[in-house]
Amino acid sequence: MSVQELVLKQRTEILHALCSSGSAEHLEQVLDVLLAEEELSWEEYQNVQVPGRALYTNARQLLDLVYTKGVDTCGLFLAALKQVLPEAKGVGFSLTGCRSSLEGKEEYQSTSSQTLLTQRPSLVRELQGCTDGALQALLISGLFTTADCDDVRLPIHTPSQQARRLLDHVRSKGESAAKTLLQYIQQKQESGSTPTQEKPTPPKEFVKYQKKLSSSVSAQSCFLSTYGGTSHMSLDDIYTEGQLELGHDCADAHGSLGLEDIVGTAGTVNEEADTVLVSGEAGSGKSTLLQRLHLLWARGTALQDFLLLFPFSCRRLNSEQRELSVQELLFQHCCWPDREQEEIFQFILDHPHLILFTFDGLDELKQSFSDEHRLCCPTQRAPVHVLLFNLIQGSLMKGVRKVVTSRPEAVGPLLKKHLRKEVFLKGFSPSGIDCFVKKHHSDPAVAAKVLGSLQTNTALLGLCHSPVLCWIVSQCHKELLGCGEGSPQTITDVYLMILQHFLQRQSSQGSTAGSGWLHEHLQTVLHLGQLAFELIGTTCYIFSGADLETCGVTEKDISMGFLIQSKDMSSTRSKRYEFLHVTLQCFFAALYIVLSNNTDRSTIPKLFELKDLKETGLSSACFGSCLPSTYQQEGEATAAETPNLQITATFVSGLLSQRHQSLWLHCCPSAVMEKRVRQVVRCLSKGMQKHFKSIPQPVEGEKKSMHAMPGFVWLIKCIYEMQESRIAKDAMSKLEVDHLKLTYCNIGPVECTALAYVLQHLKNPVGLQLDNNSVGDVGVEQLLPCMHICNSLYLRNNNITDEGIRKLIAKGIQCDNFRKIALFNNQLTDACTQHFSHLLKTKQNFLALRLGNNNITAEGAKQLAEGLKFNHSLQYLGLWGNKIGDAGAEALAQVLESSNTLVWLSLAGNGVGSRGARALANIIKNSASLEEIWLIENCITRAGVECLIQALEHNTHVKSIWYVMKRLSAENKLSVFDGLKLTNY
Ligand code: ADP
Repeated sequence: MSVQELVLKQRTEILHALCSSGSAEHLEQVLDVLLAEEELSWEEYQNVQVPGRALYTNARQLLDLVYTKGVDTCGLFLAALKQVLPEAKGVGFSLTGCRSSLEGKEEYQSTSSQTLLTQRPSLVRELQGCTDGALQALLISGLFTTADCDDVRLPIHTPSQQARRLLDHVRSKGESAAKTLLQYIQQKQESGSTPTQEKPTPPKEFVKYQKKLSSSVSAQSCFLSTYGGTSHMSLDDIYTEGQLELGHDCADAHGSLGLEDIVGTAGTVNEEADTVLVSGEAGSGKSTLLQRLHLLWARGTALQDFLLLFPFSCRRLNSEQRELSVQELLFQHCCWPDREQEEIFQFILDHPHLILFTFDGLDELKQSFSDEHRLCCPTQRAPVHVLLFNLIQGSLMKGVRKVVTSRPEAVGPLLKKHLRKEVFLKGFSPSGIDCFVKKHHSDPAVAAKVLGSLQTNTALLGLCHSPVLCWIVSQCHKELLGCGEGSPQTITDVYLMILQHFLQRQSSQGSTAGSGWLHEHLQTVLHLGQLAFELIGTTCYIFSGADLETCGVTEKDISMGFLIQSKDMSSTRSKRYEFLHVTLQCFFAALYIVLSNNTDRSTIPKLFELKDLKETGLSSACFGSCLPSTYQQEGEATAAETPNLQITATFVSGLLSQRHQSLWLHCCPSAVMEKRVRQVVRCLSKGMQKHFKSIPQPVEGEKKSMHAMPGFVWLIKCIYEMQESRIAKDAMSKLEVDHLKLTYCNIGPVECTALAYVLQHLKNPVGLQLDNNSVGDVGVEQLLPCMHICNSLYLRNNNITDEGIRKLIAKGIQCDNFRKIALFNNQLTDACTQHFSHLLKTKQNFLALRLGNNNITAEGAKQLAEGLKFNHSLQYLGLWGNKIGDAGAEALAQVLESSNTLVWLSLAGNGVGSRGARALANIIKNSASLEEIWLIENCITRAGVECLIQALEHNTHVKSIWYVMKRLSAENKLSVFDGLKLTNY
C-alpha cells in the first residue's frame, strides 16, 4: 500500500491520535516539522492553522492537504507523526512503511528568517519558558510593540503555543527581528542558563506574601486535620507513606512513587495539561496526603520549584455562594495580601509555572465536572465551581500546576481528557500498617499486641489497608484485644466498634454491660443519624447550627466526638460542623435508616436502586423524595452522591445482619427490623439478577463470560456485610458463566474477602480474572476460600510477592479444578519458583503457568525445570520479560525437549543468547507438541538463529517462531533470513 493510500485509509485513527487529547499540541508539532522540512509553504500552514477554528477541522484540513500534495508529502507527514507520537502504534494505526526518522537538514541557511523556519521544532523547545526575555529583547530593539508582546503572551496560550506565536510574529516582522531573536537565543545558550529554568526575582511584597501564606499553610497542616476535634496528633508523628501508583496503561507504571513524583514528570500522559489527579477510595488517605505535601512545602523541604501553594477544600468551596474572580478566590480563601495585591497577582499571572493549586475532594463538590462554561479571564467573576472547572482544564491560569483529589467513581471521561496524569492512592502496604500502628501507639507493648491481634484475624488485617479503617481499628484496640468470638469481620463491625468506643468513652456511668450501650445512647445516635441521612442526599458535608437544630442535635450529642468543628477559612460566620470522616456520615445515615421510625418505607429500595436512578439522572431527586422537603432544593445529580449512598447501603446491609440482632432488641420493634431485613435481601437479589441478565450469550465455541459492571462488586460487598451464607448461596446459584472478569475494578484485600465469601458458592468452576487491581499478598490470602471454584486465576499486575504465592500454591495444590494461573507483572523472584516447581510435580492436570515481567533469573528457571521434569500436563509456559539468560534457557530446554504436552513457550525478553538458542533448538527439533515459541527481545545472534532454523526443518508441529518482531512460519523459512538481514545480525 502506498503511503498516500495509508493516509487515506487510516484517516480516522490519525485524526484520533492527533486530536483526542483535546490539545492542539500534537497537530502543531507535526506542522512545525512539515514547515521545517519545507514541505508546507507559509500560506499552506496558515490555511491549516486557523486560530479559533475547531481542532478537528484544522487536522482534517491538514490531512486533505498532504494527501493532495502526493506521495512524498504523505511519507514525510507519517514520519513527522511517528516522531511526534512514537506511541501511536498502540492506538491502532500502523506506521510501517513510512520513514522512521526525518533526516536532519544540514544545509546552509541563507537568511535568519529561513533559519527560523528550518529550525522551528527546536526553537519552539528553546523558547518555552523564556518568551518573556525574548519579547523584552525585541521590545528594546524597537522591533516589537507592547501590543505585539501582549498578543504573544495571551494567557490562553500554553508555553509552546506562546513560543510558536512569537516565531510567527517575528517572521512577519522581517529579517532584523529574526536576527535579534536568534541572537537572544544564542546568548542564552552561551551564558549557560537553560531558558526553561529561568527563575525571576519576585518583588518585595510578593516575598512577604509568600511568607504569610506558608506560615498559614503550615499552621493548617501540622496536625492531622480530619480528627482535629478529637486528637491533636501531629502529622509528623503519625504520617505513614501510602502506596502510590501510576495508571496501569502508563508507560512508566512500574516502581513506587514518592510524594514529589505527584507533580513530577513520571507518568505524564498529556504534556499540555496542568492537572494531576490523585484518586483513591474514601478513607484511602487523599486529604492526609495533600496535607503532608502542604506541610513539606511550607517548611521548605519539598516542592520548592513552586513559590506559592494555594490549598483548597472542595467541601469548603461548596459553601461559597458568591461569584468570585480567581484573584478573589486565591486571596479570600487562602491568604490575604497585606499590600500590593495587584502587583502580587500580576506576578502570579506572569509566572504560572511557579504556582501550585491543590483541590481536595473534587467528588464532594455539589456540581459534577463539566467543561461547557468556558472562562479565560482571571479577573472575571463566576460561580466557584465554574472557576474550579476552568482552572482544572487550563482555560484559566494556564501553566499553574493543579493537584486534585477525588474518589475514582466520580471521575468521568470528560475530566480525564484534561489530566496531565492520574496517580492512584492505594492505602497502606502491609509494612505501612505495621508502621502506622507503631506510630499510633507510643507504647511498643500495646503496638505489638494490636499487631498480634491483626495477624490472627486476616479479615481485619485486610480492612486495615484502608488508612481510615486502620486508624479506627488501632484506636479501638481495647475492644480488639482479647477478640475471639464476635471479633470484627466486616466494615460494619469495625464502625460499630468505634461507635461503642466513642459512646462508652463519654458515658458518665462507664461502660454499659452487654448490648445495652446502644439503647442507652439511642437519642444521640438518632439525632446524628438524622443529620447524616438528611444531608447526605444533598451532598452536604458541612452543617450549620440551623441544620443541627432541625435534627435535634444537642451539645451533648456534639460532645460525643463524632462531629468536629469545620475549619472554614473563608468565613468568620457561625460555627459549622462536619463528621470526622465522610464514611462516618454514611454510617450514621445507615443507622438512621435502620433504626428510625420516621423513614419512608421506600427508602431502602431506593437506596439500593441507585445505579438505575443515576443512569436516568434522577438519583438525587428520587432519593430526595424520601427526605423532608427542606432538603430537596438541590435537584441535580452529582458525581459525589453515588459512592456515598453506596457506602451507606453497604452499612445498612451490615447493620441488618442477623449477628447484630441483639443490639437492636430494645431500640426498634423486631417486626420492623425483620421487614427491613427482607427488603434488603430482596434488593440484593434483584440487583444481582440484573447483572446476570446483562450477560451476553456466548459466541459459538467461546466461553460464557461476564464482565462485571460497576456496582457488581458493591453488591458483593453488601452480601458479605450481611454475613449470611444463605444469601450468598442464593445469589450465586443463578450465576452461570465460565469466566468472570473483574479487571480494573479497584479490588483490594477488602473486596477480595467479600468476593471469596460470595463466589465460593458458585455451582460451576470459573476463570476468575482480577487483572489490574490491588490484590496484594493479603488479598491473595483472602481469596483462598474460593480457590476450589477457580479453574483459572488471572492476577496480572497486582503487587503480589513470593509470600502471597507461597500461600496461594499451598491451597491451589489441593484444588482439583485449579489449572491455570497468570501472574504477569507482579513482584515475583526466584523465591517463588520452588512453590511452582512443587505445584508442577504434584498437579498432573495443571495447564498454564504465566509468570511474565517478574524478576526470575536462571536460578528460578532451574527450579521450574526441576518441577517440569516430573510434569506431564503443562501446555503453556510464559516467562516473557524475566532474566533467565542462557543458563535458564538451557535448563528449561533440557527438560522441555521431551515434553509431549507443551504447546506454547515464551522466553522473550530474557537476555537469552545464542547458547540458549542452541539449547532451545532441541525443543523445536524434538518436541512432539510445541506449536509456538516466542524469542523476541533477546540477544540471539546469527549462529543461534541458524540453529533454530535448522531445528525447524526437522519439526512439523511448530507453526511459528516469533523472532525480531516478525511472525515467521515454518513454510516460509526464507523470510527468517530476510528478517535477520533486515536487522543486521
Ligand atoms: P480520604 O481523603 O481519602 O477520604 P483521609 O486523608 O481523610 O482519606 O484519611 C482518613 C484517615 O485515615 C485520616 O484521618 C488518618 O487518620 C488516616 N490516614 C490516612 N492517610 C494516612 C497516612 N498517610 N498516615 C497516617 N494516617 C493516615
